[in-house]
Amino acid sequence: MSTPNPKKEVITTSRRDFIRAASLGGASLLTASPLFGTANLKNHGIALVGLGQYAMGELAPALQQTKHCHLAGLVSGTPKKRAHYGSKYQIPKENIYDYERYDSISDNKDIDIVYVVLPNSMHADYSIRAAEAGKHVITEKPMGISVSECDRMIDACKSNGVTLNVGYRLHFEPHHQVVAHLGKEHTLGAPLYLRAECCQVMDDPQQWRLRKALAGGGAVYDIGIYCIQVARYAMNAEPIAITAQEFKTDPVKFAEVDETVTFQLEFDSGVVANCTCSYNAHGHKLYIAYSKNNDYLEVENAFYYRDLSGSINGRPMDNILPVNQQALQMDAIAQSIVTGNNTGISGAEGRQDMVIIEALYRSLESGNQRIKI
Ligand code: NAD
Repeated sequence: MSTPNPKKEVITTSRRDFIRAASLGGASLLTASPLFGTANLKNHGIALVGLGQYAMGELAPALQQTKHCHLAGLVSGTPKKRAHYGSKYQIPKENIYDYERYDSISDNKDIDIVYVVLPNSMHADYSIRAAEAGKHVITEKPMGISVSECDRMIDACKSNGVTLNVGYRLHFEPHHQVVAHLGKEHTLGAPLYLRAECCQVMDDPQQWRLRKALAGGGAVYDIGIYCIQVARYAMNAEPIAITAQEFKTDPVKFAEVDETVTFQLEFDSGVVANCTCSYNAHGHKLYIAYSKNNDYLEVENAFYYRDLSGSINGRPMDNILPVNQQALQMDAIAQSIVTGNNTGISGAEGRQDMVIIEALYRSLESGNQRIKI
């Protein structure tokens, strides 16, 4: 994908430095963040709850690369998975739980953080119980399936004196860190327009993502949330209104949840973020236009775990080194427990996305009306 930039560039020194830094090594530009300090901190034990694709395909391997936390426990309802992963990762038997024993995790000194990687409608219950067991909580996105659930999760963590974070791994990905940096610093001028597309084919008609009771909703809850997230940090502002449209090619498969939704997030500045999420297509793209000299940034595979590729004004951000997003995310959370640093992915962040998602569904229900947020 390329977008023409007809104007001749007039680049100030700081802009030129930024573009060079972002194009030739954005990662180094961003490692000044306090999240990446080298303090000698406690190595926290993490228990993964729900041993599905994301937990065992991404998080457990990432925990072999972390510096400030490690895989200390497993929670699953499936005996085969408990045995297989317990042996693969050499987890002591007493740190392997079924759901019946889950609450007794409170007695386990090896486990400091519980990471809930269950279907969306189970996040709130298992996070609140983890907080009540005195464990710090990470929950996968979406944080819950309603704002009121998010409120209960935040309250439970607050009253039990534990931290709450959401698995927003892209906050630790260098292309996205460049986007957030540009939103804050306006090095390329103010953001003027954003287009985000996050689409993924949902093949298996039996899976929980198609059941409203477990998923909360469809493409919006699962992947549209990435468009909402990036719009918020790209603008460094909160949207003031949303208008949404829903489309279905397969009303049987998507009887309970949304298949394709387009939505527009409006910002106070007059800027619009035009977003698409779908369970019936492939494509992860991001485009942001800025006010200086028709500058623009593009990211392909924009919401992937790996293989993102970005460019600024068509020039590849070549030297951004690949990172393990999940390892950085979990290390940042582990460090923040000791330092008190803001991770940027706290419960408040997850709740705000749910506020926007609820407004989005109100727009759909009202026949695509513009809803103030
Ligand atoms: P999955 O279906 O692969 O795993 C879900 C796990 O939950 C399975 O181990 C399953 O056995 C267990 N489970 C317990 N009770 C269940 C029930 N009643 N119905 C269905 N499963 C039940 O799903 P996944 O892709 O690993 O997603 C899990 C969570 O992680 C979701 O909230 C999802 O949004 C999130 N996720 C986040 C990312 C990310 O990039 N941050 C990526 C993928 C998934």
